[in-house]
Amino acid sequence: MKRDSDLSRRDFLRAGLVAGLAGGAAARLAASVARESIEPAQRGMPVIIASGNGLRASERAMAMIKAGADTLDAVVAGVNIVEEDPSDMSVGYGGLPNERGDVELDSCVMHGPTYNAGAVASLRGIKTPSSVAKLVMERTDHILLVGPGALAFAKAHGFEEVDLLTDNARRAWLRWKERLSKSDDWLDDEEIGAEAERPTGTINCCALNEKGELSGVTTTSGLAYKIPGRVGDSPIIGAGLYVDNDVGAFGPTGRGEAAIMSCGSRIVVENMHRGMKPEDAALELLQRICAKTTEKRLLSSPGKPNFNLNFYAVNKDGEYGAAAIYRGGTYVVHDGTTNTRKQSAYIYEGR
Ligand code: ASP
Repeated sequence: MKRDSDLSRRDFLRAGLVAGLAGGAAARLAASVARESIEPAQRGMPVIIASGNGLRASERAMAMIKAGADTLDAVVAGVNIVEEDPSDMSVGYGGLPNERGDVELDSCVMHGPTYNAGAVASLRGIKTPSSVAKLVMERTDHILLVGPGALAFAKAHGFEEVDLLTDNARRAWLRWKERLSKSDDWLDDEEIGAEAERPTGTINCCALNEKGELSGVTTTSGLAYKIPGRVGDSPIIGAGLYVDNDVGAFGPTGRGEAAIMSCGSRIVVENMHRGMKPEDAALELLQRICAKTTEKRLLSSPGKPNFNLNFYAVNKDGEYGAAAIYRGGTYVVHDGTTNTRKQSAYIYEGR
């Protein structure tokens, strides 16, 4: 991907942001940035965009779309691979648990052609929460089911209840627990390292087919070692996913609290609606989130959040883009021919 230098890109975006609030000139300005930095898929061709862990998901989803499947069926079948894979510790089976060692999963889906959505939150015991979210959309008059209600719904539909905590995830949780305090009776292993890591991770996958239909899905085990019952952005329509069949589709990964506070997904799709290209639409919101992050505990240095967010967007024309607060983010794009992992645009080189 061709990209301006970090500094010039930032300054240019700032100029675009100011003008953007003023009106139409902004859309033109943003478009001129995007033309330099985005590789559009061929018009009329299907496109799948996903988070960096979505290579197998996009492969399966694209194969299904080419075979004529609905875009939502395709992306859900795609992310099912990752949900069922115990080696991805951020999603589904094998995901890292909450502070008590229970795995709680969040997911939502959105179907562009029918402008419908479904979601589940704090769901335990089911490997594929995205499939349950899709059933909430298809078989209820509701959008979001949580906790025991979501589990009962899934079981009513024949999903098998299983123990989602794998040995690897249990060991990671135990290390975290042991290192919580020096004044408790759990002894930690100094050799493991000074800082207990608090990994985040999620899969988002959005698709556009050759008819111009869009759908998306986000699925996660959420923030590792969270307080039981904590729900992130991933099952919240407008935060963890948004699809407007006339405009585009968008999903984030990273600090869910920031995505919820900013109504992030809705805003990025709205930016695209106002004429911004996907990458610029994503960068614009990241700029706003950085500007709004002023609490000391959330800053690594003045103006720089101590968390990251990764954004993935595709518009109705098949143009796509991804952006993160910090350099190093990756995303996956299948443009109908090739399925590749790419570097995301970013605001800051480092923290
Ligand atoms: N957004 C997810 C959450 O906050 C976590 C992640 O994407 O890493 O639950």
